[in-house]
Parts: sequence; C-alpha cells; structure tokens
Amino acid sequence: MKAALVHQFKQPLEIQQVDKPELTQGAVIVEIAACGVCHTDLHACHGDWPVKPKLPLIPGHEGVGTVVAKADDVKHIEIGDRVGIPWLHSACGHCEHCLKGNENLCPQQLNSGYSVDGGYAQFCKADANYVVKIPEDISFVDAAPLFCAGVTTYKALKVSKAKPGEWVAIVGVGGLGHLAVQYAKAMGLNVVAVDTGDEKMQLAKSLGAEVCIDFKQQDPAQVMQEQLGGVQAVVCTAVSKAAFTTSFNSVKRGGVCVLVGLPPDEMPIPIFDTVLKGISVVGSIVGTRQDLVECLQFAAEGKVKAIIETKPLEHINDIFDDMLNSEINGRIVLTLE
Ligand code: NAD
Ligand code: ZN
Ligand code: ZN
Repeated sequence: MKAALVHQFKQPLEIQQVDKPELTQGAVIVEIAACGVCHTDLHACHGDWPVKPKLPLIPGHEGVGTVVAKADDVKHIEIGDRVGIPWLHSACGHCEHCLKGNENLCPQQLNSGYSVDGGYAQFCKADANYVVKIPEDISFVDAAPLFCAGVTTYKALKVSKAKPGEWVAIVGVGGLGHLAVQYAKAMGLNVVAVDTGDEKMQLAKSLGAEVCIDFKQQDPAQVMQEQLGGVQAVVCTAVSKAAFTTSFNSVKRGGVCVLVGLPPDEMPIPIFDTVLKGISVVGSIVGTRQDLVECLQFAAEGKVKAIIETKPLEHINDIFDDMLNSEINGRIVLTLE
C-alpha cells in the first residue's frame, strides 16, 4: 500500500510502498478515504516533545474510511462501517481513569500516528473498541478534522465550564481554533477570536466571532480587559509561548485558561495573580469516545462544519511548510486514492 513515512526527525516525509497492516485480535483494518493534517503530526515528525514517537512512523490521527476487515472477536463493528481513527488508538480499560470514563487520561494509552502507525496511508489498523462510527450525514472529508481538531476543542470548551452568554476567547484560529469558534457559538457563548492576518480575521468573523483581534496590531489581553472586563475563559490553541501569556492575561477574576496548543516551551505562571484573582489554568487533551460522538452530532445537525481544502497525500511536505508559516486557513485534508 501507499503511505507517507517519517524515517528521521526534521527530514521530509517519504511516499513509499509498504506492507498492508495485518489483522490481530480486537482489531479492524480501515481503508482510509481521507486524513486531516494536524499540527501535532508536524510536532511528531520534528520530534518536538519529551516523549518521542516510534520511527519509522506513518503519522495521522484524523484518518477516516471504511472497515474492510475485522478480527473474529470483534462483534460491534461490521465490515462496511464508516469509522474514524482518533489520536486515542487504545487505552487499558481498567485503570482509575478508564473506569471513570476519562480514557483520554489513561497512562497506558497508545496514540495513532505517534506510538502506532496512523492514517497517512491507504490502510490503517485500529483497535475496534476505540474507533468511532461516523453519522451518515457527514462525508468522509468533512468528518476527518472532527476526529482531532473537533473533539479537542469541543472538549476544551466543556473543560472551561463557560456558560451560554459568557465570553470565551479562542487564541489561535487555525485547524483547531476555527472549529473552536464554531463549537463555542453553537454552545451559546460569545466569542473573541485572536490570530493574525486579514484572512484569519475574516474567517473568524464569518464563523460568528463577535470580536476579532489581530495580535500583531493590538495587545489582545489589553483589548479584552478594557472592552469586556476580561473573558470568563480562554481556549489557547496557538503554537506559541507568547499566546499563553496573552491567554492568562485575558481572563477575568475567577476565569479559566484552558491550554491546548503544545509548543515545546515552558510556561511560567504568575503565582500572585493566579492566587489573588482565583484563576484556573488547566490542560485539556483530545476527548473521550463519548465526546467524539457528541462533537460529531453537532456536525451531523449542521451546527459545525470545518473549512477544508483537500490535497493528495503526495503534497504532505508542502503542507507542513505552509503550516509552519501559519499559511493554512482551516484544515487541510489528505485524500487517498
Ligand atoms: P495550526 O497550525 O492549524 O493553528 C495554529 C494557529 O495559531 C495558526 O492559525 C497561527 O496563526 C496561530 N498563532 C500563532 N501564534 C499565535 C499567537 N501568538 N496568538 C494567536 N494565534 C497564534 O495548528 P492546529 O492543528 O490547530 O494545532 C494547534 C496546536 O494544538 C498544536 O501545538 C497541536 O499539537 C496542539 N494540539 C493539541 C491537542 C490536545 O489535545 N491538547 C490536540 C490537537 C492539537
Ligand atoms: Zn491532532
Ligand atoms: Zn486506562
């Protein structure tokens, strides 16, 4: 089968023929129709994070397609089912976090396109218990970005505990952020969008953001404090240390700063302001299978739709260049023929 592989960190991916994955107990084989390109894939290929991915690696954790084979012991998924393979490839199912329904926190989890091969390929093996079915009304291409960008931002907004009518800032209106704006609007929140450039400002406005701030023209935290008295919550998706300072400084007293973006930096948190203003700083990592079901339902009902450009797998290295330069509007989805 055709796949994109990374052999060495920071080297271009190679498109090559490799063996199809083999079926094992509890697994399904999915013929991939489309796979979104997440900034996490770029971090993986660069070896940016303390925990390194396997090498060689087939990246991709927004892979969607049709089940073409299943192990004998798989009863709840049928051949022909339309499914997505999220970042959470599998979890142990019996630790404290799994038992509480927080399988995204399982310390024994495996991750698609990181510790196991992912969706930048014609076929991908998945754990049948962790694939999620795609509602009929959503096309493969539209579904792909929801399997990471969608579920991650939907979950982050839940973690923020912001209520309808309150202000939330989405810092970074990229692949994740442009879906965050839409989920926030669909949840009845008022939205401040922060990014840079006319295209991203217009995109955020068209998706319903009431206030759009270009961080290269204005200090977003100052604008939010002066005009709104600070926001109740921020979801920070930007791959930038500066964006975390902006996020922290934008919340009001008692506000919640949800960290989602993963630049390879440290973030010093001011103790005095955190304590005296009762600010919560909380991390949020993807979402559970139930979060995925819920976030897909928003799309099935037409409340959320990713802005997508499709490109063939062969373009992956150019796509990564554009992503590094923040030149992508919405999400790029790879198509596999
Ligand atoms: P992306 O490249 O599509 O978007 C990032 C956006 O941030 C761009 O639009 C860029 O212009 C903007 N930006 C850069 N500096 C900024 C600043 N100072 N202020 C405001 N905006 C700024 O990336 P993506 O696919 O949306 O992923 C974003 C990050 O989220 C990555 O680090 C990725 O690894 C991480 N991520 C985390 C999770 C999770 O579960 N926590 C899940 C998926 C992705
Ligand atoms: Zn992702
Ligand atoms: Zn577990």
